[in-house]
Amino acid sequence: MVPETSSLLFDPPPPGQRYECQRCGNCCRWPGDVEVSSEEIGAIAAHLEIPEALFVEQFTRLRVTRRGLSLIEKPNGECFFLDGIDCRLQEVKPAQCRGFPNAWNFEGWRGSCEAILVPADPTVADS
Ligand code: SF4
Ligand code: SF4
Repeated sequence: MVPETSSLLFDPPPPGQRYECQRCGNCCRWPGDVEVSSEEIGAIAAHLEIPEALFVEQFTRLRVTRRGLSLIEKPNGECFFLDGIDCRLQEVKPAQCRGFPNAWNFEGWRGSCEAILVPADPTVADS
């Protein structure tokens, strides 16, 4: 999720390297929006085999900015779709989730993410 109070200063991986997720689940637990686009809503609703309108009604809320929708969270603050350390939307998770931390991150992110640097493989997309 996007931390609400952190500055979104991007700290990209060094040339020829990428961050490899260690599946700690922390990025699904910190507070903030999990932004979903209209296209992603369609894909997620299809994945869950429910109508888009029902998905929007039951599993999204307005973003903090009030511009667009976010996935909802559990009472403890973690993403509603986090199941232990697994994402129940793995095959269709939003671009925001797939892009962290290689495509975007924020000031101080290394203190919360256990990803490790590995040689970049241009044939492998961000996960
Ligand atoms: S959709 Fe999946 S990857 Fe994204 S925050 Fe929720 S549990 Fe994590
Ligand atoms: S991207 Fe980082 S914070 Fe998120 S699950 Fe992977 S190692 Fe943990």
